[in-house]
Amino acid sequence: MLKQTFDIDQVIDRISVAVAPLPKAALFELAEEGFDSPFEQLVACILSIRTFDEITLPTARRFFARARTPLEVKQLTPAEIDGLITASSFHTRKAEQIHALARRVVDEYGGTLPCDAEILLSFAGVGPKCANLVLGIACGELHIGVDVHVHRVTNRWGYVQSTTPERTMAALEAKLPGSYWMEINRLLVPFGKHICTGQRPRCSACPVLDMCQQVGVSE
Ligand code: SF4
Repeated sequence: MLKQTFDIDQVIDRISVAVAPLPKAALFELAEEGFDSPFEQLVACILSIRTFDEITLPTARRFFARARTPLEVKQLTPAEIDGLITASSFHTRKAEQIHALARRVVDEYGGTLPCDAEILLSFAGVGPKCANLVLGIACGELHIGVDVHVHRVTNRWGYVQSTTPERTMAALEAKLPGSYWMEINRLLVPFGKHICTGQRPRCSACPVLDMCQQVGVSE
């Protein structure tokens, strides 16, 4: 197929239409349900690490039904937290991390998790992806949350050429228009799960096939 010039505006428009009927990425879905404080979003992001959204969503809802403020979470024991999140991968370690997070937020920050990247990244279990998603979704700041889907899809497009999510984040920060910094994660998580999948992407049904370089796609 003769490829058209890559036009990020058109790509975003077409993908917005394609993902509209698909389930939303877990953190965006939880935010819409009212779990939109920085603390709730960070806990949900920790729960989502190495865990499918289909597991993360009910696990987060169940956990927040029992405790959703830093003080409420601090008053649980790590074992109690573990018992509420057993469906999540690495739940025992995450239970310790979530308890330590709640304890520090109460003891050091007066019970409210600040919208501050340095502070977010100082918690065990929190990397750039979670920090940026919290700052974007809960704090309304402009950040790009790069997970495996955003990394894989933007590299397949040929829009960036990078070997790790961290490098993809830096490359996107340098060229992606600011108006799409939050959109890109919201759109590419469902797009990467259902259309531009890790194995055997559905290129023949893809709305941006005419602009995508399909880098590294062999099937
Ligand atoms: S054409 Fe294929 S590789 Fe490119 S975005 Fe679509 S599904 Fe992914």
